[in-house]
Amino acid sequence: GTAEIGLIGLGTMGSALALNIAEKGFDIAVWNRTPEVTRDFAKEAGELAPRVTPTETLEELVAAIAEPRAIILMVPAGDPVDQQMAALRPLLGPDDLIIDAGNANFHDTNRRAAEDGGPFLGIGVSGGEEGARHGPAIMGGGDRANWDRVAHILTAISAKYQDHPCAAWMGEEGAGHFVKAVHNGIEYADMQMIAEIYGILRDGMGMEAAEIGDVFERWNDGPLDSYLVEISAKVAKATDAATGRPLLSVIEDAAGQKGTGRWTVIEAQHLGAPIPAIDSAVMARNVSARRDLRAEGERLFGRGPETMPDAPALETLEKALIAGKIMCYAQGFSMIARASDQFGWALPLPEIARVWRAGCIIRSEMLNDMASALTDDPSRLLIFAPDFAERVKDTQESLRETVIAAQRAGIAVPALGSGLAWFDLIRTARGTADMIQGQRDFFGLHGFVRMDTGATDQHGPWAG
Ligand code: NDP
Repeated sequence: GTAEIGLIGLGTMGSALALNIAEKGFDIAVWNRTPEVTRDFAKEAGELAPRVTPTETLEELVAAIAEPRAIILMVPAGDPVDQQMAALRPLLGPDDLIIDAGNANFHDTNRRAAEDGGPFLGIGVSGGEEGARHGPAIMGGGDRANWDRVAHILTAISAKYQDHPCAAWMGEEGAGHFVKAVHNGIEYADMQMIAEIYGILRDGMGMEAAEIGDVFERWNDGPLDSYLVEISAKVAKATDAATGRPLLSVIEDAAGQKGTGRWTVIEAQHLGAPIPAIDSAVMARNVSARRDLRAEGERLFGRGPETMPDAPALETLEKALIAGKIMCYAQGFSMIARASDQFGWALPLPEIARVWRAGCIIRSEMLNDMASALTDDPSRLLIFAPDFAERVKDTQESLRETVIAAQRAGIAVPALGSGLAWFDLIRTARGTADMIQGQRDFFGLHGFVRMDTGATDQHGPWAG
C-alpha cells in the first residue's frame, strides 16, 4: 500500500480528523465497523477523495498502508479500543504503530503500552469536531521514537498559535491522555466560574440574557479573551426559534458530563494534589443533574433575595473572574507538576501551556502569558511567578468582594469560592493544622512536631 497513515472509526471525530489529514496532503486509508459509514464518507470527501482510500475489511485497510504502518483509532474509549487493538494487532508487522486518539483514561493507556507488545501511542485530541476538522490541540504520549515517526502529520493537522503548532509529545505511556484529562478538568472549572458569574448577573442583578451576552462580549476583548467567554456571550445572546425567547431560558439547568472531569478529581486525590476549583465544578454538575432535589430544597428553605442589595460593579465581577481563572490554572498546573514527579514523566509544563493556546476548548490569550511564566521556573506555583503575582494582587479583592456578595445573597459560587479559599490557605504561613495535629495526638497518639525545638514524635499531657 501507499497510504501514509490509516484511521479506524469514522464517527464525529474520526471523519473530521481523516478529512483534516487528507487536506494537509497526506494519503489516508480508512475503515469503519459499519461499512455504509465508510462508503458515505468516501462519497462526501469531495475534492479530498483522491487522498482517501476507503476499505471494507481490516485486512484491506492494513494492505492499503505503506510500511512501517501507523494507524489511528478514533473509537469510544474503553472496551472498543481493546477490541479493536486485539483485532488489528495480529494483522500488523512488528514495527506497525497503533495510535489511540480517543479520550482514554490514562491508566488504560499505561496498561496498553505495557501489554500491547507493539509500538503504541496514546494521544489526547481536543477541540471537538471543529477542532478535529480544522486544527485540534494534540497531546502525545508513548515512546518518543514512535511520536517522532508521526509528528510531521500530527503537527501539520494541529491548530497553530501564530506559527507554533499546538501538538507536542508530553512523555512516556499515558502522559498525553493524562494531560488531556487535566485539560478537561480545567475546562469544567473555567466553564463553572463563567456560569457562576452568569448567575450573579441574572439572579443577583436581574439582567436579561442578551445584556449578559453583551457583558461577556466586552470582557472577551480584555484579559479574559478566550474561546469559553466568547461562546458564553453567543449562548447568552441566542434566541429560541420556537418561542422567540432567550435560548438560555428554555435550556434545562442540568449539566451532562462524560467523566473526564471526574477522572481528574479522582487522580488529584490519589496524587494528594489540591484542585478545589475543579472538584467544585464536578460537584456543581452533579448537583445540577438533581433537579428534583433542588426543587425540594427551594420549597423547604426558599432562595436568596431576588436582587443583591450590594451587587458588585461589572468591573469587580470581571476581575473576580480573572482571579478565579488564575487560581484554577495554578491548581491544574501544580497537579501536572505533582504527577510529573510521581510518575517520573518530566511533563513539559511551559509546552503544555503553549499547546493549549489554540485548537482546544480552554484556549485563551492568558495561556500565552502562563507559558512564559512557567518557562522561568516550571516547578513554581503559577501565582508566585512575578507576572501572575501582580495580577493576583490586582484582582483578589474583587474575587473576595464578589464571593461575599454572592454568598450573602444565597447565590451559589462554589468554584469561585473554593478558588478563593485555596488562595487564602496558600498565603497563610501559620495555618490551623496545629489543632488538627493536637486532635490526632489526643485520640490516636499520632505525635506532633514541636516548632520551637524541631523535636518529632511529641505528645500532649493526655499521653500516658
Ligand atoms: P462517535 O460515536 O461519533 O463515533 C464512534 C466511532 O467508533 C464510530 O465510527 C463507530 O463505528 C466506532 N465504534 C464504536 N464502537 C466500536 C467498537 N466496539 N469497535 C469498533 N468501532 C467502534 O464518537 P466520537 O467520534 O465523538 O468519539 C470518538 C472518541 O473521541 C471518543 O473516545 C471520544 O471520547 C473522543 N473525543 C470526542 C470529542 C467530541 O467532541 N466528540 C472530543 C475529543 C475526543 P460504527 O459506525 O460502526 O458505529
